[in-house]
Amino acid sequence: MIPVSRPYLPPRLDLDKYLDQIYSSNILTNNGPLVQELTKRLADYLNLELENLVLVANGSLALQLAYKALGISGQVITTPFSFIASSSTLCWEGLSPVFAEIDPETWNIDPDRIAEKVTAECTAILPVHVFGNPCEVLKIDEIAHHHGLRVIYDASHCFGSTTADETILKYGDISTVSFHATKLFHTVEGGLIIAKDRAVAAEVRRMINFGIDESGVILGVGINAKMSEFHAAVGLAVLDNIDTIRRQRHELWRNYQEGFSQSSISLQKISASSNINHAYFPVLFDSETTVLQVMDRLKAIDVLARRYFYPSLDNVGYLKDIRHHCEISNSICSRILCLPLFPGLDLTIQREIIKIVNETVGRP
Ligand SMILES: *Cc1c(COP(=O)(O)O)cnc(C)c1O
Repeated sequence: MIPVSRPYLPPRLDLDKYLDQIYSSNILTNNGPLVQELTKRLADYLNLELENLVLVANGSLALQLAYKALGISGQVITTPFSFIASSSTLCWEGLSPVFAEIDPETWNIDPDRIAEKVTAECTAILPVHVFGNPCEVLKIDEIAHHHGLRVIYDASHCFGSTTADETILKYGDISTVSFHATKLFHTVEGGLIIAKDRAVAAEVRRMINFGIDESGVILGVGINAKMSEFHAAVGLAVLDNIDTIRRQRHELWRNYQEGFSQSSISLQKISASSNINHAYFPVLFDSETTVLQVMDRLKAIDVLARRYFYPSLDNVGYLKDIRHHCEISNSICSRILCLPLFPGLDLTIQREIIKIVNETVGRP
């Protein structure tokens, strides 16, 4: 079966170099040398300040720590067009997600629909840069400032995306990235917090280590959300190959783009002055029937396209609230499909996928 995304495994020799270091240092975790090296190399690669970054155990914990470190309470305005983790982490921390409608073309939260959701209990906005496509960050910042709200960007999909030639990860009070195995850059399980304020980053560093500060004093409530040396080793070995990974993804992405240039299907509109990281290739069909037809035909050649995201989060049992029903998000969710895109995807199979999609939507 050809999956929608296949986790990237770095060449064994690249990984062994770092594993050897673990075997000689005997340091397995607790902010060891490999976690420190990975943090430094990520700061360089992403063009961010080292002091603002904290590596953590996964992307969901990165979000939870962000809410805690910023003292978020009550309601948080977020998007229904996302992976469940953006909203479930809010609920897990006792916060209430309030859904605002998305833009029908960029599929990101529509900044013009945020203000109408602000109430006295609202303390933050949690936008998601969907499929690596940057949100309208300047507009969102302005709304947040006007209403006295914090902004946390779920930038889980955004490793390498830029806006106005700068990394998208520097926006918001905090941005979080997921380094899960299926993401463009990964550490098997892992995540990154980028805090605008260094004091907040320092607070997160204490929080992930049981609330204990560098001198061993217990300063507050904490949790264990540290990244291990083994996870950092995988991250370093993947980072050694990041140029190849991104080149291959870009090539595959372009093939899809060209293959569908005459087609009636819609593609995500990339935000103005932004560059995406080619992490996903979502396509939007005219109806759910077409989605199911395409999936069936792809399955016949052992290709597993995924309905991502589906369903719209305002339709998930524990999140349902008729006051926050989002028509556009529901419509997009019912018609969207993500096509396979990962380094090593066979070009012949990709051509076959393009052909099947085009034939199904009726292109001669
Ligand atoms: C992957 C993902 C997460 C969760 O990250 P984990 O590292 O798997 O915990 C959160 N939000 C979005 C949008 C994601 O795609």
